[in-house]
Amino acid sequence: MTLIKGTTGNWEMVIGLEVHAQINSKSKLFSGASTHFGAEPNSQVSLVDAAMPGMLPVVNEFCIEQGVRTGLALQAQINLKSIFDRKNYFYADLPQGYQISQFSHPIVGKGKLILDMADGSKREIGITRLHLEQDAGKSLHDQSPTSTFIDLNRSGIALMEIVSEPDLRTAEEAGEYMKKMRQILRYIDTCDGDMEKGSMRCDANVSVRKPGGELGTRCEIKNLNSIKNIIKAIEYEATRQVEIIEGGGKISQETRLFDPDKGETRTMRSKEDAHDYRYFPDPDLYPVILTKEFVDGIKATLPELPDEKRARYVREMHLSEYDAAVLSSDKEIAAYFEEVAGKTDAKLSANWISAELFGRLNKAGITITESPVSAAKLSGMLALISDNTISGKIAKQVFDIMFETGKDAAAIVEEQGLKQVTDTGAIEKIIDEVIAANPDKVAEYKSGKDKLFGFFVGQAMKLSGGKVNPAIVNELLKKKL
Ligand code: ADP
Ligand code: MG
Repeated sequence: MTLIKGTTGNWEMVIGLEVHAQINSKSKLFSGASTHFGAEPNSQVSLVDAAMPGMLPVVNEFCIEQGVRTGLALQAQINLKSIFDRKNYFYADLPQGYQISQFSHPIVGKGKLILDMADGSKREIGITRLHLEQDAGKSLHDQSPTSTFIDLNRSGIALMEIVSEPDLRTAEEAGEYMKKMRQILRYIDTCDGDMEKGSMRCDANVSVRKPGGELGTRCEIKNLNSIKNIIKAIEYEATRQVEIIEGGGKISQETRLFDPDKGETRTMRSKEDAHDYRYFPDPDLYPVILTKEFVDGIKATLPELPDEKRARYVREMHLSEYDAAVLSSDKEIAAYFEEVAGKTDAKLSANWISAELFGRLNKAGITITESPVSAAKLSGMLALISDNTISGKIAKQVFDIMFETGKDAAAIVEEQGLKQVTDTGAIEKIIDEVIAANPDKVAEYKSGKDKLFGFFVGQAMKLSGGKVNPAIVNELLKKKL
């Protein structure tokens, strides 16, 4: 049987993800060296990071806090005692000869992540654990034709490894899991979630089985650095496994690499077992002992999380599910929306932000924090709509100028004479003109063609340059006709 790429026929995919998220911290997990991105190679390496003899690691308390904070946001068990172990292996970019990681006693235990699928359904994915560990350095193979260089700037940077249960069933779900994870980490500010800079990476474990059957043998695809690649790699890998099994073969457990150019995974190494790493507690580090008060203190500073925010927007502000999802998708967007909605009607604010503001931001290729129209300025303009100073139509014109110049709505309306005409005398004059100019239409209307009413309204609006108040036009027209 030949499968279409990315399909598994009547086989079910089983996927578990291991996410590596770099902790938002100015200094490393066990040293004071800077973590600033993009510095000169080897300019941010302390003696500890370079593994000089006799150097001792000292745990960075802020990183511990960030790990706990993330665990709480994932509704997970926080372990009051955790242990740093040595995971021993040799690699050129690992000067210590071991990585300090948490193996048998991670700082965070079981939790969960809720996915919102495109069809409106929800899926709960189990989190197995979150542990803290150091990153390794980086081998640079492209600097010289004959040598490999090592950059130790990343050596010792604090990572959270977040491991999921094998609960994901499609590549699409895996993509949603990554998006939701990134959203939460950004909300609580423990990781910037920037996959391009390598702040968030993922290993995908994939197997296939007959639905409801025993778990199949898995392969682990290492170091996926975009959501697109995660989806492509999983689809390719599952199809490959089904083809092998259907052809009478067996899957051997191994670690594979994804080649984004070819869209394929290939063998990197056969799977090692934990005992190959000779894990043991790092004798240079005490166990991490937390108090309940410390954990509760962090809990008290957790912000409202995206799911809660979204539900509140629907419940209290009566937004649609869709608008609520869009406006709570990101911390900055939510803050902007809440500032605007706090001063004017929530639905009006939601419409203007999701349609008009986002349209213009996209076109300009900028984010909401770079918007030339601040939340205060947008709410100023919406107030002019609400109190009938300008019509919704004129408002779009005003908004264009605001976006271009950054000026206040009121100033623009004043300068350009865009105030809505509400003076009945002036509107009556316009209506008289419209009636005088269209005697045949007036006759038709009077003989019963009611639909023509809209035509007269349109003419009056046009004649006034869109500035007359439509409600008053309607009322006066009815009288006159
Ligand atoms: P390791 O540390 O050796 O990679 P773990 O037991 O920690 O192994 O599992 C790593 C990941 O593999 C977890 O995310 C888990 O959900 C996933 N996983 C375990 N068994 C399977 C399976 N049969 N198919 C797919 N994923 C699996
Ligand atoms: Mg693994």
